[in-house]
Amino acid sequence: MRRGLEEDEFVLFYQPQISLADETPSGVEALLRWNHPQHGLVNPANFIPQAEQSNLIGPLTEYVISQACGDLSELRENGFSPRMSINLSAASIYDLELPEKLYNFFGRHRIEPGHVALELTETAVMADAAASIDILTRLRMKGFHLSIDDFGIGYSSMEQLVRIPFSELKLDQKFVRGLLKYPECRSVTEVTIALAHKLGLTVVAEGIEDDATLDEVRNLGCEEGQGFVIGRPMPLEQITGWLTERNAAAH
Ligand code: C2E
Ligand code: MG
Ligand code: MG
Ligand code: MG
Repeated sequence: MRRGLEEDEFVLFYQPQISLADETPSGVEALLRWNHPQHGLVNPANFIPQAEQSNLIGPLTEYVISQACGDLSELRENGFSPRMSINLSAASIYDLELPEKLYNFFGRHRIEPGHVALELTETAVMADAAASIDILTRLRMKGFHLSIDDFGIGYSSMEQLVRIPFSELKLDQKFVRGLLKYPECRSVTEVTIALAHKLGLTVVAEGIEDDATLDEVRNLGCEEGQGFVIGRPMPLEQITGWLTERNAAAH
């Protein structure tokens, strides 16, 4: 990984998110890939956990922030202004310089924090709720949107959850993918949406793989959607094409 970072082998892919009401693009999520000389494109599940265990998660996160920032400013120069979602690592909650660093990075590209959503998994947040509340509150005060990722598979303490100024909840794909097949998934989905709305959060359904599920999450009240049936994660050049097509179709 250290060598890969030095050799510039990491790249960001972007997956589109849509507003379910009118199916217009609402944002893109930056997803990391390692373009390995022998193994080809490697998914983050195969290297993020190892990076988290070593001190490489820091430089990797720096790369993601600066690349996503540069790419977003390129998209904006081309007339697109999607909200950019960035995944923070579990270690990020201990990086006290992060709010300032993120603010300065985006500021240099004249991008307001309101155009950026920072995602942290439910599991990472709950691993140390006190540290999370501290850093996430500071990030929110800078104006960044906060998103709780993979919600439903961790162990949330409701007492802690309500203290973090999240603006969005991402329903874990496990529940979305099982929605039409398993009544339990449907129950969890319904209750989670109700909870999110009570707390004033918007809900993003992840892992939508077919049109029937897309209709169902919309009917259940999710505001936004993301998944293979909408668009796969793709390189920057392709997301530009995708946004062009979608915007044209919406007009
Ligand atoms: P995540 O943030 O929950 O990202 C969504 C994952 O679901 C992505 O996998 C995406 O490709 C996949 N996905 C999206 N739609 C569908 C669908 O319809 N069906 C299925 N089966 N899968 C779908 P990916 O890119 O492999 O990322 C996996 C996880 O790795 C991410 O989960 C995130 O937690 C982590 N990750 C990705 N990029 C970064 C990064 O830059 N930094 C950190 N710290 N973690 C990252
Ligand atoms: Mg994957
Ligand atoms: Mg995510
Ligand atoms: Mg997720």
